[in-house]
Amino acid sequence: MKTAQVERNKIVTKEADNIKLDGRKGAIVKVLGCGLCGSDIVKFREKIVKDGAVLGHEIVAKIVSIDSETSFKIGDKIVTSHHIPCGECNYCKHGNVSMCEHFKKTNIFPGGFSEYVYVSEEHLKNVAYIVPENITDEEISFYEPLGCCVRAIKRCNLIEGDKVLVIGLGTIGLIMSEGIKAFGYKVYGCDLLKERIEWANKLGIESYNSLNLNDFDKIIQEKSGGIDAVFMTSGADKALDVALKVVRKGGKILVFSSTPQNTGYPNNEIYYKELTVMGSYSPSPKDLKDSFELLTTGKVNVKGLSTHYSLENVQQAIDDTISNKIMKAYIKISE
Ligand SMILES: [Zn+2]
Ligand SMILES: [Zn+2]
Repeated sequence: MKTAQVERNKIVTKEADNIKLDGRKGAIVKVLGCGLCGSDIVKFREKIVKDGAVLGHEIVAKIVSIDSETSFKIGDKIVTSHHIPCGECNYCKHGNVSMCEHFKKTNIFPGGFSEYVYVSEEHLKNVAYIVPENITDEEISFYEPLGCCVRAIKRCNLIEGDKVLVIGLGTIGLIMSEGIKAFGYKVYGCDLLKERIEWANKLGIESYNSLNLNDFDKIIQEKSGGIDAVFMTSGADKALDVALKVVRKGGKILVFSSTPQNTGYPNNEIYYKELTVMGSYSPSPKDLKDSFELLTTGKVNVKGLSTHYSLENVQQAIDDTISNKIMKAYIKISE
């Protein structure tokens, strides 16, 4: 089977041994397509993964072979995420499921940028769903990334009437904003790129240029002393300045992006303004279930966000994503 593998500083297409169940429970799936995640790019660029690694985890796939206690069967089109928490460790008990060791260990094999993938019984039981007919493959491939956003929104414990600002309107910022709106909160967006601001406005998210802080002054004054929660989906230096300017006293900053350097949060701002700064990483099975519903009911609209690439062009997809030529890459692998 063909896979796209990391080889030195490139992603190349390579033949790999076909995978079989070999007595394991679970399913072998034929990958129809797989979204390219920002975390794939970080793993590749920062050389976090070794040569031979197959990236990709946002898969939509068809079951070609199965041995399972679930009701899935050959021919089913499914969407799945890649990690499952144990539900019993200290992290899980505190709701920090994405820190669970079992969560980090579980994965689809060899990775989504492959013609075939092994999906374990545990995946089938906890995080896999049949794709309904009213949604396209590329749209449902947002299942896992939107699950991450759902988790962030829930962690923030917003209350009715809260106003949220999402800084960074890339794909994640857009679906985050749509998610916040779907949960019933008022959401604003900002970015530096005109096209993204326009896209957000088209989706009904009142959005601004991050450099036009005067516009924010207006929002802040009109809306009772500032924004209740700021979601940082951008790791740009300026993003933190904007966040600190607009967040109200006692408000929250939700960190949802890595930064090139380990930028520190200013101690005194946090202290005197009694801010809550918190991170949110990867979704629980329940967050994923909510994400599935938001997508399949059309409450989060991802139409037109993806650009298609072939398995041979994963490298190009990465380059185009980094240079902001596209919003989101979807690697289409088979029919
Ligand atoms: Zn992802
Ligand atoms: Zn656990």
